[in-house]
Amino acid sequence: MSINIDYDAADAAGASANSSIIGPLNFAKDQAAVEPPTSLVNERDVPCMFCDKTYDFHSRENGPDHYLAHLYLVHRLIIDEVKEIGCLPSYCYYWKEKFREDPPEKFCSAMLLNQLPDGTTSSTSEKYFLLSDIEPLDAEIRQRLRREKLELVLTRHQFERTDRSFHRDCLYCRDYRSETRPDFIAHLYTKHYLQLGKPEHLVFVDELIETVQEKLNQLICLFCEKVFKDRPTLKEHMRKKAHKRINPDNHYYDRFFLVNYRHKQKPAYVPIAERKQESSVFVSDAESDSDWSDWNGEEQRTTCLFCAHIEADIAVLKQHMVQNHSFDFDQSVAGLGFYQRVKVVNFVRRQMHIHKCIGCGEQLSDYDSLCAHLSSTGHCRLDRESCPWDQPEYFFPTYEDDQFLCHLEEDDGNENELYDSSDHEGAVVISEPVKATINIDAESLALENLNLQ
Ligand SMILES: [Zn+2]
Ligand SMILES: [Zn+2]
Ligand SMILES: [Zn+2]
Ligand SMILES: [Zn+2]
Ligand SMILES: [Zn+2]
Repeated sequence: MSINIDYDAADAAGASANSSIIGPLNFAKDQAAVEPPTSLVNERDVPCMFCDKTYDFHSRENGPDHYLAHLYLVHRLIIDEVKEIGCLPSYCYYWKEKFREDPPEKFCSAMLLNQLPDGTTSSTSEKYFLLSDIEPLDAEIRQRLRREKLELVLTRHQFERTDRSFHRDCLYCRDYRSETRPDFIAHLYTKHYLQLGKPEHLVFVDELIETVQEKLNQLICLFCEKVFKDRPTLKEHMRKKAHKRINPDNHYYDRFFLVNYRHKQKPAYVPIAERKQESSVFVSDAESDSDWSDWNGEEQRTTCLFCAHIEADIAVLKQHMVQNHSFDFDQSVAGLGFYQRVKVVNFVRRQMHIHKCIGCGEQLSDYDSLCAHLSSTGHCRLDRESCPWDQPEYFFPTYEDDQFLCHLEEDDGNENELYDSSDHEGAVVISEPVKATINIDAESLALENLNLQ
């Protein structure tokens, strides 16, 4: 399928939405005739970028998570910041077209690891690819999809609020028939105490109701998702436990809430060279005296994981991190293998860069609030239970030329007993030189259009 056809369809929908601003004057029939689409592309049958395997992005059994796992395990491709992509199925169609003509090398950062996708060590160098918005085409398609998806969602939302041709029987009672989606949702709430969300916050309501109906038919509680033996028991459970609402932790429902289409501002990518420069103001005069820098091997200096502090000696830097950030690197990564350490460093760098807590994942507004959060909560430590850093995208350096990655095996002392370091001797982490060309201004969208109150 050509993605262009679908864009045209979306454009047409956008145009018709503009003309339907005079909505109240339209007869139900006319409105039904111009019902805007619910997706940019066919999301139920999305082919792999490289092979013929297909996935249903609305299912949990063969959905986006399976798609991404397949890309990694079979084709060794990782999509960066995949959650930020406005419409992942469209993105996949787009790249499938590109990869028909050219190999991934043309668009992706490549990296060699002597590890297989399942985590086992390989005797040869294995090549992995990262598809990210460092590639201009990728940045462009991400921007475009965010904009088009947003337009589609807003158009659809507008339509669903006013369309009077929505005829559906209540999930519970027989005599009620709604005319509009907001009426239907309101009825479920006022008569049956079922809370799906405020109608003005919801979109793709038909599918939401379909999903809810299916769950109830399968005797699954909407909130805790336990299965019950019969309908009366399920009803009793949901009423008694106040489980008459959807599970907020089930991200499957995210797409039904308008708020999730709000654009999250992404910080610009900062190459480490630039960061070094930025940070030079923090370095003492003696150190920044460049006459000696070549002599001292300035290239080998390493930037702190948490601030702009630079040290030539990694041991001194680690000491700095203990004293200033209460973070003992060696202790934190004790028992972890080489690649795990690589992931830890890249993860911490990434989190610090996007101002997210490395401990609890909370998103802070800026660097200073993040530092305040880290020190007040004591979150400057790794969660060794849920291991958020143990994701394949963290194989890839957050900063090009990150010297920290060169010191992961130096003073491991007695930790050698915990893993066989000989396996890692020839380990190479190569990031092909990348140039950041992200234009975040162009990305920012008038999301203020979303009037959620
Ligand atoms: Zn495939
Ligand atoms: Zn009812
Ligand atoms: Zn329940
Ligand atoms: Zn520091
Ligand atoms: Zn935290």
